[in-house]
Parts: sequence; structure tokens; C-alpha cells
Amino acid sequence: MVRLVLVLGDQLSEAIAALRQADPARDIVVMAEVMGEAGYIPHHPKKIALIFAAMRKFAARLERQGWTVAYTRLDDAQSSGTIVDELLRRAEEFGAKEVIATQPGEWRVIAELDAVPLTLRQLPDDRFVATQAEFAAWAKGRKQLRMEWFYRDMRRKTGLLMEGNQPAGGQWNFDQENRKPPPQGIDYKGPMRFTPDETVTGVLALVAARFANNFGSLDDFWFATDQEQARQHLAHWVRHGLPRFGDYQDAMMSGERFLYHAIVGLYLNIGLLEPMEVCQAVEDAWKSGDVPINAAEGFIRQIIGWREYVRGIYFLEGPEYTSRNLLEHKRDLPGLYWGGATRMRCMAQAVGQTREEAYAHHIQRLMVTGNFALLAGVDPAQVHGWYLAVYADAFEWVEAPNTIGMSQYADGGIVASKPYISSGNYINKMSDYCKDCAYQVKDKTGPDACPFNLLYWHFLDRHRGRFANNPRMANMYRTWDRMDGQKRETVLADASAFLEKLDAGAPV
Ligand SMILES: Cc1cc2nc3c(=O)[nH]c(=O)nc-3n(C[C@H](O)[C@H](O)[C@H](O)COP(=O)(O)OP(=O)(O)OC[C@H]3O[C@@H](n4cnc5c(N)ncnc54)[C@H](O)[C@@H]3O)c2cc1C
Ligand code: SF4
Repeated sequence: MVRLVLVLGDQLSEAIAALRQADPARDIVVMAEVMGEAGYIPHHPKKIALIFAAMRKFAARLERQGWTVAYTRLDDAQSSGTIVDELLRRAEEFGAKEVIATQPGEWRVIAELDAVPLTLRQLPDDRFVATQAEFAAWAKGRKQLRMEWFYRDMRRKTGLLMEGNQPAGGQWNFDQENRKPPPQGIDYKGPMRFTPDETVTGVLALVAARFANNFGSLDDFWFATDQEQARQHLAHWVRHGLPRFGDYQDAMMSGERFLYHAIVGLYLNIGLLEPMEVCQAVEDAWKSGDVPINAAEGFIRQIIGWREYVRGIYFLEGPEYTSRNLLEHKRDLPGLYWGGATRMRCMAQAVGQTREEAYAHHIQRLMVTGNFALLAGVDPAQVHGWYLAVYADAFEWVEAPNTIGMSQYADGGIVASKPYISSGNYINKMSDYCKDCAYQVKDKTGPDACPFNLLYWHFLDRHRGRFANNPRMANMYRTWDRMDGQKRETVLADASAFLEKLDAGAPV
């Protein structure tokens, strides 16, 4: 009997588990662009366009290979609007009772598929280096789930950058070399750009018509939308961007949206690239002497370390992870995250390029937008909703542990051993933003004091009970306690005044 093979928009790989189990001669591949997925949060229009365009091209590729694909376009009149209802509609159409699926990367969709009144198997998504069971076994009995230890196991497992049992270059981690402040200029012109073809142009028109009110610009769409293009982009970056990736991984520069970053998250996360092919390309470049070890190791750690680790945490912690709020932060997400005016140059740069590109790099996400939300005490569920909506690479399994865990410390220290907070000092060291900012990064109080300075002490003061005994934060509290009492009061009063302005919706 005919079976349905569900392929979701972030599972666009011929090697995906469900397709491997299916038979092109008798099974029907079901793919659907539905409002249920495109509209449950206000995704950036470029993200929606990327996924729909890549889905259409992937469906056409499967058809060329002999598969029958039942594809629903967003504007198809018969569309029922959700994945589950599309499955039921197609089951009736083709007389199918059985569905083969690959497990989705979001608890919500897993639960929806579990409830489908058909025989539906969710196969493990094995596009990753570690299985969920392997991660759970690694985590079992450990007091602290340190990424670094997990990463070393993944190095041993994959053999990447290994010389026998030993790490290449004599050490596991070259992070100390990867924190250079911004360079004078960038000699890399950024990611490879692709002119929209007919399929992409059709999708862009659809998205422009349907999602015109979403935050984010659709102009100048240049993403790769199929495997060949994504591979060309990867080869281009390995050659031109990777050599300096490590050095300037944490740097931020006005007007430089991509620096030396790989811009591969969006392609990896929808299946156009595989993690091991990306890592092997990087290892090969190092072996040929084209890139230094700090660049190769720094990058491979992000993929087989951080990426795998956060996925492990997401599935280990369960569906309620996204509602954690250890610090009981309740403030609404300020309008400046949706493009409202701000005098803070760092925030304007990070949010502005997010609006234009559906992209900001890790330090912009963690130490600018994430840091500000944490210092200001914004409700982590709202912060999570924002990150999930605005980045082209955002899917819950990877976004939530980064936001709820690493950035907002809302999971109580599972991902981060201390909150990632900083005053303006750090941003000043790692960027060129502060020199052109309306605020003064050196001012600790007063009308022009950098808001990160005010809010940093306000955060430490209001969470003293929780963090004063954290050995990694003792220095911060010592500095605060050494400050003159009158000055401390002024800092806290200025911070409160700033927060009141923020709450009132006044430009800050
Ligand atoms: C608050 C917050 C939210 C984030 N949300 C997402 C998200 O929705 N999707 C996403 O893929 N990444 C997310 N990240 C991680 C990271 O910022 C992005 O992977 C990275 O910026 C993507 O850009 P790139 O491809 O140029 O990465 P590069 O800087 O060039 O790094 C290479 C790759 O390493 C992987 N990687 C690096 N850091 C991480 C990390 N912390 N967790 C998982 N993978 C990592 C990604 O696949 C990335 O593409 C988030 C980080 C923070 C702090
Ligand atoms: S002075 Fe403060 S607000 Fe302005 S760019 Fe620097 S860190 Fe950001």
C-alpha cells in the first residue's frame, strides 16, 4: 500500500532518514508551505523566502529523480493550512494510512505529529554527529554539562583535527587567539551572493504580498537556495573568509555585517549542507596549509561542539525548556528590537542589520541584543520569540538553548556557568561602535552614561542573592562594593530612570 513520506522545510536533504526508508516506486513525498508554520510567529520575510524557495527547488529535484511529490504551495486554494491537515488531506487523496517522517526539531511539531490519526513513524534525524541517546548518556550523572568536555569527545569520535589520540597542534582549544578587536579593514567581501532565479523570484513575490507587515526587509535577496549553491558558497568562504575567521570571530564593526563569518547556519539548518562536509572542507584547508589552526579549530568547535551540544540540551531538557525564567524577568521586549528608534549605536547596528539581512553574528546576538535584554530584565519567552522570528538560521532546537540558556540564563546555568553580561567596556573593546554613539561609554552616571554601564550594576545589585557567591562573579561584586555609597545610589537611580523611559516607550 502507498505510504506518505513527510519532508519538512528544514529537512531538505536526499539523505534525510524518511527518504532513505521510502520507495520512490510506491511512496508519495508530501511537502507543504503552510500558514500554520509560516505564521505562528512573525518570521523575517527573508527567512520565509529562503525556506519556501529551497523547498520548491528540492521538490523539483526529487521529481527529477523519479519521486512523486505532492507539494502544497502557500496560495493553493485546496490547502488546509497546517502540516497535520495536509497529511490527512493527502492520505485521503492517495488512499494512504501510513506516514514516514523524520523527527522535527521542535517539540511542538513532534507532539502534533504524534497526535495524527494515521500510523506515523518519526525516525531519528541523523544529520548530526551525536545521537540524542549518546548526548543523554554523556550528560548522565554529570554535575555540570560543560561544552568543552563534550566537544573533545566529538573530536575523538569524528577524528577531526586529531593526530592519533592527541589534538592537532598540541591543544584542544585555541580560543585565546580568537578574541582580537576589530581590524582596520576587512579584506573579505562577504558571503557569495546568488541572483534570484525564476523559482526564487516567484517566492519573493508571494512573500512580499503575504508577509508585508513582518519585521524585516525582502530587498536584495541573495541567499543560496539549493545544495549546489550552498556548496559554492562554502568553497568560496573556506578560500577567502576562513583564514581570518578565528582572529576576528568576536569583533564587531560598523557597516561590516559579516566580517569573516561563514554564514552557513542557515544552510546547515535546512539541510542544504551537512555538518561533516563543512568540517571536512575546513580540515582539508588546514591540512593543505591554507588556514591556521586557530581558525580551523575555532570553526570546527562551533559545529561539532556548540551546535551538537545545544541540540543535546534541547532534547534532554524537554518541551517546557522554553518557558523557563529563573531570574523572574518580566519586562516586555522593548520596541527598539522591532526597529524602534534608539540612540544606542550598538543596538541600532545589530537590529538594523538583522532587519536587512536576517543575520547578525554570534557576538552581536550574545553581547549586544542578548546582553541588553538580560540586563534590562526582559521576559525570556519574549526574547526567545524574537530570536526565533528574526534570524534566517533560527529553528527552536538550536535557537532556544542559545537564547533561554546561554544568553538569558533563564535555565539556571545549564548552558552558561554565569550570566553573559557586560558593561559598555566589552562592547567598546570588541567594536568600533562606541566612538560614534550618542552615549559616552566612559560615563558611569549622568544623562549620557552608556546604558550598558547603568544596567550592568543594576542587574548585579538586584540579583545579589543569587550571584554574590558565584566564584566567577566575586570580582564584579567586589568592584561594586568598593564603589562610593553615594555613587552606587546614583548609578541605581539613573538605571531605574532609564528603565522607566524604556517602559514608557520613549526613545532611549
Ligand atoms: C541569543 C542567540 C541566539 C542564537 N540563535 C541561533 C539560531 O537560531 N540558529 C543558529 O544556528 N544559531 C544560533 N545562535 C548561534 C550563533 O550565533 C549562530 O549559529 C551564528 O551566528 C550563525 O552565523 P554563521 O553561520 O555565520 O556562524 P559562524 O560564526 O561562522 O559559525 C559557524 C557555525 O557554527 C555553528 N554555531 C556557532 N555557534 C553556535 C552556537 N552557539 N550554537 C549552535 N551552533 C553554533 C553554526 O552552525 C554556525 O553556522 C544563536 C546565538 C545566540 C547568542
Ligand atoms: S556607548 Fe554604550 S550604548 Fe553606545 S555603542 Fe557603546 S556600548 Fe553601545
